[in-house]
Order: sequence, then structure tokens, then C-alpha cells
Amino acid sequence: MAEDTYLLTMINTIESLQDKIKTLESRILELKFHEKQLELVIESTAVGIWDWQVQTGELVVNERWANIIGYTLEELGEVSIDTWMKYAHPEDLKESNRLLEKHWAGKTECYIFETRMKHKRGHWVWVYDTGKVIEWESKSVPKRMIGTHLDISDKKEYIAKLDAANKKLMAFSYVDSLTQIPNRRAYEERFLSIIGSAKRSQNTVSLLIIDVDHFKKYNDYYGHEKGDEALFKVAQAIKSVLTRKTDFVARYGGEEIVVLLPFTTLEGAEITAEKIIQRIMDERIEHVHSQYDGMLTVSIGVASTSSQFDDLFDHADTALYVAKNNGRNRVEAYSNYQPPIRVLSPSPTP
Ligand code: GH3
Ligand code: MG
Ligand code: MG
Repeated sequence: MAEDTYLLTMINTIESLQDKIKTLESRILELKFHEKQLELVIESTAVGIWDWQVQTGELVVNERWANIIGYTLEELGEVSIDTWMKYAHPEDLKESNRLLEKHWAGKTECYIFETRMKHKRGHWVWVYDTGKVIEWESKSVPKRMIGTHLDISDKKEYIAKLDAANKKLMAFSYVDSLTQIPNRRAYEERFLSIIGSAKRSQNTVSLLIIDVDHFKKYNDYYGHEKGDEALFKVAQAIKSVLTRKTDFVARYGGEEIVVLLPFTTLEGAEITAEKIIQRIMDERIEHVHSQYDGMLTVSIGVASTSSQFDDLFDHADTALYVAKNNGRNRVEAYSNYQPPIRVLSPSPTP
């Protein structure tokens, strides 16, 4: 009787074990299915995987991780953290360490870094590297980290191309297409930056406004196309007179060109302006309506300041007006000295 009971218990135990095995088997199948599914996902996203034992330096990577830098896993041989160090760009390692330490200190949710790795064929591959500590040795001491590598070289190349195109576009939008010197927009920006630093250091800034004489008549007589050519020559001639790196020339509009001369006194600016007058004469651009040897000329208004920057343009413009009135082909400087207005008394009657 006792034997029967023992046998029955054994049968029950075996049956229950068999059930457990079945459950485990189906669980294993399920896990294998998920593992396969995960592999397929990883494969389709072309993501390299790394699994790093931080304290020992052991590293496990997948086939894709090796493929990103042009190798097979077999070719890489035994992989460790030294493998990463070997292929990572030396200039990126310092930043990579800094970001890792930040993550280990709990300051970032994840480690994220765009880094370069050496490809088998010798070029650098841009890699988007992300990771996270999944096991800790103790506080701030990581045990195990898992992360991914994604090849972002195409994206980087695209961004670099876009950057270059933007720079080109920016350069174009600051250059006057007719005269090939900076345009008014460039002048406005340069003016603000120059007066910004001049205000701080109380330096003198001078401004020349240069206007072509009788240019309407020139266009009427020679045609607009010749007028354009003449403007180009004038702009280039003015540019050739300027020597300092800080001197700045721009087409302000129409046939008016401005020159900004930082760190330059009124006297210095007048000398530069006189050189420009002479340089334009030397160009000998024929202008039948000019009273100066039948050659095209310019008039220049000059002003300087180390404090009243808002008035600088108006002052130079006033000086230009005086130059035009005084016969053109000349330089006039704006001076703060205003002669007292003389009221002419009627001449005595004889
Ligand atoms: P002033 O000596 O008093 O400066 O006389 P002006 O004829 O030069 O001055 P005004 O302002 O009466 O005429 C300027 C002329 O400049 C009008 C226009 O025909 C010419 N001009 C302005 N911009 C251009 C340009 O881009 N190309 C050409 N060809 N001519 C231009
Ligand atoms: Mg004008
Ligand atoms: Mg003019």
C-alpha cells in the first residue's frame, strides 16, 4: 500500500516536471523568437552594438560594429576596449572620456557622442555613438555599459556641403555684383562693429563718401553699359588705394562709394581721399562733359569722430555737398568749427 502511494507521488512529480519542461521549452522558443526579432531589427537599422565590461575592459560587439569601419568580426580578432581606442580618432578620445565621466557621475541620462573612426581603407567614418550604464559596481562606478554605433558619414557630408553652400550664399549677399566690392548691407554691418569697438577704445573713425561727378551725363552720352564699366573701374581704383587691413570700401548705392577708415584721424583720411582723387584721374576714363581734361572725376566728403558716431555719415555727406559746390574733383572735410555767420552790410553808397 505504502509502495502504491510512493509510486503515485513519483508519477505526479514526473508529470509536473514534464509540464514545467514543456513550459520552459515554449518559453525558450518564445525568447529565441524575440532574440531573432531583435536581431532582425538591429540588422535592418544597420546599428552596431557594443557591450562593455567597464572595469575589465572586455568588449563584445556585433558584426555591424566591425562592418562600419570596413572589417568583419573575424578580421578584428579578439575585441576589447583597446580595439575601440585603436580605431577611434585620437582627437576625439578626450571628449569621449569627458562625456563618459559625466554620464557615470549621473549628470546625463545617456552617453552620446559624434565621433570619428578609422576605416580599413584609411578614411574617417563619422559614428553616432550612444550608450548607457546598465549595471553599477557601486555609486558612480560603472560595471557594464551597452550602446550603439551608427554610421552618420553621409549626414555629416551633407551638412558640410550645406554649410559651404550657405557660406557662399552669405558671401554673395554681401558683395555688389556690378562693382565686386562689398555692398551697402556689408557696410551697415561693418559700421556697427567698427563703432562698437571704437566707442570702447575711444578711437577715431573716419568716413569718406565718394560720388562720381556728372555721372548722369556720362550715362546719357556713353550709354548705361559703359556707365556700368566705368563704375567698376572707379570701385576697383578706390580699392587699390586702401592699404590697411582695417580699411573698408563698399558701394553705398548708385554711383556712391563709401570708405570706412578706423584708427584714422581727419588729416589721415584727407590724405587717403586725395590719393583716391589722383588715382581716378590716372585711370583716364574719358568723359566729354568733364571740365577736367575731359576725364571722369569724383568728389569726396570726409568726416571723422571718436564720439559722435551717429552724425558721421551726415557730416561726410555735408562735406561732399560742399565739394560738389566748390567745383567737383576735390576733397572737402567736415569740420565742427562753424564760422560765425557774417551779415553783409549793404555797401556804402558812393
Ligand atoms: P553730380 O556730379 O552732382 O554727382 O552729378 P551726377 O549726374 O553724378 O548725379 P545724379 O545724382 O544727378 O545722377 C547720378 C547718376 O548715376 C544717375 C544714374 O544714371 C547713374 N547711376 C546710378 N547707378 C548706376 C548704375 O548702377 N549704373 C550706371 N550705369 N549708372 C548709374
Ligand atoms: Mg550721387
Ligand atoms: Mg554723382
